[in-house]
Amino acid sequence: MNVSAWGIVAAAGNAQRFGADKLSVPLADGKTVLRSACDALLAGGVEGLVIVGSPGPHHQLDALGSRLYAIVPGGSTRSESVAAGLAALPECAQLVAVHDAARPFVAPDLVQRLIDAANEFGAAVPVLPCVDTIIESADGGLIKSFDRAKMRRVQTPQVMRRELLQELLQEGSASDESSVLIALGHQVAAVTGDERNIKVTLQSDLPEPPRIFVSGSGFDVHRFDPERPLMLGGVLIPNEPGLAGHSDADVLLHALVDALLGAVGAGDIGEHFPPSEERWRGADSSLFVTAAMQELQRVGARLEHVDLTLIGEQPRLTPHKNHIREYLSELLKLPPTRINLKATTTEGLGFTGRGEGLAAQAIASLSLPADEER
Ligand code: MG
Repeated sequence: MNVSAWGIVAAAGNAQRFGADKLSVPLADGKTVLRSACDALLAGGVEGLVIVGSPGPHHQLDALGSRLYAIVPGGSTRSESVAAGLAALPECAQLVAVHDAARPFVAPDLVQRLIDAANEFGAAVPVLPCVDTIIESADGGLIKSFDRAKMRRVQTPQVMRRELLQELLQEGSASDESSVLIALGHQVAAVTGDERNIKVTLQSDLPEPPRIFVSGSGFDVHRFDPERPLMLGGVLIPNEPGLAGHSDADVLLHALVDALLGAVGAGDIGEHFPPSEERWRGADSSLFVTAAMQELQRVGARLEHVDLTLIGEQPRLTPHKNHIREYLSELLKLPPTRINLKATTTEGLGFTGRGEGLAAQAIASLSLPADEER
């Protein structure tokens, strides 16, 4: 059948319960809520669209090209907004699909079935059974229950002949087009809706935005200085020779800081905390870790896992592992299960084998918002 179906996308509502511009939030494929709703209508056989509202460049509508026929400002009620959309539609539009912009998950197949049914019956809406009991309330009390088996939940798009939409809009304010059509005595076909076709109302209605994973590595060396206390992973290791250095010379934390900075492209520990600066003399290296964590926060990165390796003949790390892991868990705000500590000797070879100092390696794994632009 060659019926010309066009869409009115109602994008003028305010999103008070969402707390932000929900229509510009990117979904798993990177497309915004509004763009996804438009794409689904077009994929389902709608020829072109009129958006009612005031979307901006961040709603990604450029990709719709000429299929976005017009953008018109909304009215103070849904009826006024839909009427504004209707007035902007081209003459050739025979069927009109009125759709909530906040329903981005509508399947093109459902749109197609609604167009077919509206072409046959004049109007068609997607409906779903009620799983919860519906009770009418008034003045804080419950006054009337309904037979749940007879109740239906109505979604959008609601598709109807252009003249039917024209007629129902003359009836004044309505939050739902099909209700008015039914009240006017018109037939409205019920098409099985889709549980995934939700109206996004709360932040929790949306899946978490896509993230990418990145990692950074760090390596550090300090020579032994028996005059100093030994700090490893922020923990004092008693009765062991310490390490020489400008700060507390915590070789494990220094490798960790470089791994964190590396993962977010923020340089290295020497750039952030130059040994030439007096204020870092004897400094607790936990300060450097905290500062690196702030770099992560600045770009929306989330630390997912760290793996640390101490390289040297002594001390033995095993008796201190739990203590260090607990300390790092607190410092990094990361569960201890996401912190791995390892130690290895170098079989008596090299400077670590000769007992001249300790080395450490670190790998930090982070996740970042996929659309992060730094
Ligand atoms: Mg160092």
